[in-house]
Amino acid sequence: GVRDGLGAYIAKPETYAPDVVVYHNDDFVAIHDMFPKSSLHLLLLPRDQTKTRMHPFDAFEDAEFLEKVKAETRTLRKLAAGELRRKYGKDSAQEQTRQAALSADPPPDELPQGRDWEQDIVVGVHAVPSMNHLHVHVLSVDRYSERLKHRKHYNSFSTPFFVPIEDFPLAEDDVRRNPTEEGYLKRDFTCWRCSRGFGNRFAELKQHLEQEFKEWKKL
Ligand code: 5GP
Ligand code: ZN
Repeated sequence: GVRDGLGAYIAKPETYAPDVVVYHNDDFVAIHDMFPKSSLHLLLLPRDQTKTRMHPFDAFEDAEFLEKVKAETRTLRKLAAGELRRKYGKDSAQEQTRQAALSADPPPDELPQGRDWEQDIVVGVHAVPSMNHLHVHVLSVDRYSERLKHRKHYNSFSTPFFVPIEDFPLAEDDVRRNPTEEGYLKRDFTCWRCSRGFGNRFAELKQHLEQEFKEWKKL
């Protein structure tokens, strides 16, 4: 069924174009999300056959496996940050300062640091995944995408429904283990960047996300 759609990438990553499969090795496949919920949205798929059908909370109980996944997400986060720099770097204020310094005559001994795009990448899993194969989301913070069409799309990445990989292993009594009870997906909207509330006004939120996106990439 449709919930098994990620299995094909794990089985035969080599059959996909680079705009679909970003890279693959013996243990992982990194792909572009087909319905991106941010301007950059990747998925990391562990290939371990004993884990791929497990809920992430259960799979990550295995400390050795968790460390392996965390290490791979650090690699993918760097790659994603590089992609953001290529896409938006030229717009960013920090990059313009850097370029100005570079072209000075003589150039200064110490160049200003470029923007750290890694800070603008979030990595984690959904408390209730919709797709069966174990996957970790690696996406830019902007939540700016045509594919972000439903309130649950926004809230699934903007409430505790989204569990950052750094938060694992989860404590036994972590409330995020009971996501439906907590009602995360039905919560009022809060802007990821300025924390402004939008109630349940999705169209207004979407407009605001576009404004925030423009400012964020120029930061
Ligand atoms: P979940 O809600 O299960 O954590 O996220 C599953 C993700 O997989 C969603 O972001 C969705 O857009 C993505 N997705 C669903 N089907 C496919 C597919 O066939 N190919 C790719 N590349 N992504 C998919
Ligand atoms: Zn805002």
